Amino acid sequence: MAEMSETNESGGRPPGPPNCLKCAYFKVTWNPDFPRSCEIFGIKCRNLPSREVFLAAGGHCPSFRLKKGLK
Ligand code: SF4
Repeated sequence: MAEMSETNESGGRPPGPPNCLKCAYFKVTWNPDFPRSCEIFGIKCRNLPSREVFLAAGGHCPSFRLKKGLK
């Protein structure tokens, strides 16, 4: 059985939109117009990247990875 690449607090796929603020791929930019970014999708935005992913793809981000040190 294939191992899932994304994890959340419960160790499985998030049931809803993942919390980018807890994701290892989330970064803050210096651009006040686009202060949030996602390394995986290469986007900079005003909203949380997971919202942009949902609007573009019609599904929740499948790439969430919990930051080290967070629970
Ligand atoms: S990989 Fe997904 S959850 Fe992580 S920052 Fe990007 S959009 Fe958010």
